[in-house]
Amino acid sequence: MYPLRPAAAAIGIWNGLIVGLDEDVRGLPAAATLDADGAVIVPGFHDAHCHTTSYGLGLVLLDLTDVHGAAAILEAVADYSARLDPQDWVIGTGYGGGMPLSEHLTRDELDRAGGGRAVWLTHFAGHSCVVSSAVLTAVGITSDTTPERGRIGVDAAGRPTGLLEEAAMDVVKDHVGPSSVEQLARAIDVATARYASEGITSFTDAGIGCPGLDHSPVEMAAYQRARATGRLRARAQLMVHNEKMHELASHADDAIERGLDLGLHTGLGDGWLSLGAMKIWVDGLGVEGADGSPDWDNDPELLRRDIIAAHRAGWQVAAHAMGDRAVDLVLEALETAGKAGPYPAQVTHPRHRIEHGGLIRADQLPRLRQAGMTVVTQPILIAEYGDLFAELVAAERLAEVFRVQSLLDAGIPVAGSSDRPVAAGSPLRGIQAMVQRLTASGTVHAPAERSTAADALAAYTVGAARAARAEPQRGTLAPRMAADLVLLADDPVTLPAEQVADIEVLATIAGGHVSHDGAGLLTNSGLSTVEMAAAAAAEAAEAAEAAEAAEAARA
Ligand SMILES: [Zn+2]
Repeated sequence: MYPLRPAAAAIGIWNGLIVGLDEDVRGLPAAATLDADGAVIVPGFHDAHCHTTSYGLGLVLLDLTDVHGAAAILEAVADYSARLDPQDWVIGTGYGGGMPLSEHLTRDELDRAGGGRAVWLTHFAGHSCVVSSAVLTAVGITSDTTPERGRIGVDAAGRPTGLLEEAAMDVVKDHVGPSSVEQLARAIDVATARYASEGITSFTDAGIGCPGLDHSPVEMAAYQRARATGRLRARAQLMVHNEKMHELASHADDAIERGLDLGLHTGLGDGWLSLGAMKIWVDGLGVEGADGSPDWDNDPELLRRDIIAAHRAGWQVAAHAMGDRAVDLVLEALETAGKAGPYPAQVTHPRHRIEHGGLIRADQLPRLRQAGMTVVTQPILIAEYGDLFAELVAAERLAEVFRVQSLLDAGIPVAGSSDRPVAAGSPLRGIQAMVQRLTASGTVHAPAERSTAADALAAYTVGAARAARAEPQRGTLAPRMAADLVLLADDPVTLPAEQVADIEVLATIAGGHVSHDGAGLLTNSGLSTVEMAAAAAAEAAEAAEAAEAAEAARA
């Protein structure tokens, strides 16, 4: 990914940085020299949009991600319930696999499977959940309840079915409350260990501080704890959910009217843990229909206000826009924000982002380019849902669904991501999907939008780093860049596309520390692990404190 040196055979690492390639480093004294044994080394992957605590908690709660079909899901609930006390909740994530999106389990089915327990299953797409009767009772939902926001599913007789959609889910989330900092730190540990095994060295989390068990109003504390205890195994950049924005007082020169306390904004932190964009939910989940945004129930005025306010307060804006109508709203709001005055001095390149871009019209391409926006795409959604899109989207608009190549051709940067746990997370799978655009039925979805393997690899390395405004430090293997790299058993650029997802990830190094060593290749490398580095830092802090105490005693 380094244009001045597209290929190299030797790489020097010192103090967590790459110090040189080939003749720059050959023959220099080194603490250890490692023969990578023919491995292909590429920059560590960056997942530009994922939900780490949700994914990690999903792995420790009842994980339904790989359970397909109503009968199998109910069986999994029954098995899990059997191990619990009667008052315990059955909390499941990733529910809905193998079921049509419009079909849901009912409260009566969940009552039977859970033996009358409170059962709460969150859909894998994150926009709905199903609950048992005990949960409806606990949160006070009856036939007479009208939700302030979102939707409560009812049957023909008006009796709640147990389905709660969008903001109607919050009542359950609020009842259960957030997870503890330690629970979230454990989730981060489990999730980022999985990331490291897939070659991921950095990620952008697409929204912390949201309501729900998988988040917390003090979520940043969980990341700090995970990091301090060697459980953050990939660099984390955290977007903030725009619900966290509130009115602020500031000097007239600054014109910051809304934001976070103290004026915090994008960029605060360091290479391992930093504040990313302000995540603004513009529309919903679907890409169907000519206007692309069927389940859009957010107030456009409030959305515009938040986009403009976030921009003025120094935030990179990451707008969740599935449909083209949402893209229009974001572009208009940013054009207004730009006209109202110059960017704040500290935001010379805000690099605002469209998250998903499920449906983008051709006339929007020059405007996206003009606004300097990045599109953060999820190629695996084509593999997993491409056939569904073909049913839902008008035939003449199919080529606009998760377009990639036409964006690159128009000069719009593209970043690769998974939206995990919504879709599978392996970047190698994402690269394969971006090149193939093959749906489950074997159809190539909009063949002209396929990208080359090199462009796909770039989207998951330098492209994703650029979206995170981190490409001066990461995303390429070049002198002075972070020593974030992944050792692969084969070359994703030259291997036939259908084999890329199965390339073995031999080892992963983040900031010069070993975060994954599946093949034992780095056992004698002299590199410390992420845990060792954290322990050493803690030890050094303790030693400094002891020395100070001794000094004080002598005095
Ligand atoms: Zn997401």
